[in-house]
Amino acid sequence: MESIYNKSFDELVSYFESIGQKKFKATQVFEWLYIKRVKFFDEMSNIKKDIIDRLKEDYVIEDISLEKVERDIEVNKYLFTLNDGNHIESVLMRHDYGNSICISSQVGCNMGCRFCESGRLKKVRDLDAYEIVQQILMIEDDIKERITHVVVMGIGEPFDNYDNVMRFVKIINENKGIGIGSRHITISTCGLIPGIKKFMEESGQVNLAISLHAPNDEIRNKIMPISKVYKIDDLLRVIREYIDRTNRRVTFEYILLDGVNDMDECAVELGKILKGMNCYVNLIPYNETENISFKRTKNHQIMKFYDILKKKNINVTIRKEFGGKVDAACGQLRAKKKGEL
Ligand code: SAH
Repeated sequence: MESIYNKSFDELVSYFESIGQKKFKATQVFEWLYIKRVKFFDEMSNIKKDIIDRLKEDYVIEDISLEKVERDIEVNKYLFTLNDGNHIESVLMRHDYGNSICISSQVGCNMGCRFCESGRLKKVRDLDAYEIVQQILMIEDDIKERITHVVVMGIGEPFDNYDNVMRFVKIINENKGIGIGSRHITISTCGLIPGIKKFMEESGQVNLAISLHAPNDEIRNKIMPISKVYKIDDLLRVIREYIDRTNRRVTFEYILLDGVNDMDECAVELGKILKGMNCYVNLIPYNETENISFKRTKNHQIMKFYDILKKKNINVTIRKEFGGKVDAACGQLRAKKKGEL
């Protein structure tokens, strides 16, 4: 049976209409689920027994379960078990501007980026919207605080699970429920052009981040197999169109890998291809993982790369490193768990 957490507010309105009930029941249910956080339909005390019975016939209130938490000062790493026994991860990062979580969109990933731990497990399946929503609810429950920012940057490729991810966005964005503002939600893709095109039409104010990681196809092909399908020129053309159409700034993520994509000339070339674009570049110091041989760029070279981009008038930041201690790089906790099993 379907989880009620899969339903957007509008879909619940239609549901109640279809069973001959008033629309405002949807508001009540959303409040019970997302404000009061009940775990059983029977707790929805302002809803009549016959409607509760009908809800129970049509939906379940289905949880995912918390398997393990690793805690550090500014970051918590969560391992969840889904109802079919699969594992996913989320990371909570405490910033001065609020609590941000990085959530998973799939079990495994088919994109095969060479540096990424999650990609070592092929996609097992897409997550349902409720399984993405639950990552937020469970973490809020754990820290007894609100999550203010969400990045879809954990395990999986969100645009390879487009419909469920967009449904998730709609659910958490709903003011009658969790109410996380669109501008506080970011979706990160390795560059699936069809997904970006759809997103351009229907994303509203949700932020888009692109995992670029190289200034040309030659280097990109070595580390991101997807670039053989979607060439960098085509990708950048679509991004320019996205910026023109939506007036939104795009973030380019650029993971720095020693001797692979971190040379001065890469920074120069990156500056060239992004010239004049309304974007910023987030340089990511690589989080080394024992199964993969790429090395983290030395600090002086990270700074040099940064300076070259700055001089070319590119907005650039270096990602704050949180996760080293708690295996926060994508897929590391789940990889460990699998080792134990
Ligand atoms: N598939 C999406 C979202 C998941 S990857 C995408 O590609 O954007 C999210 C980000 O995590 C990517 O930018 C990736 O480069 C980064 N990442 C993966 N492994 C990492 C590691 N070991 N250290 C630092 N960042 C990593």
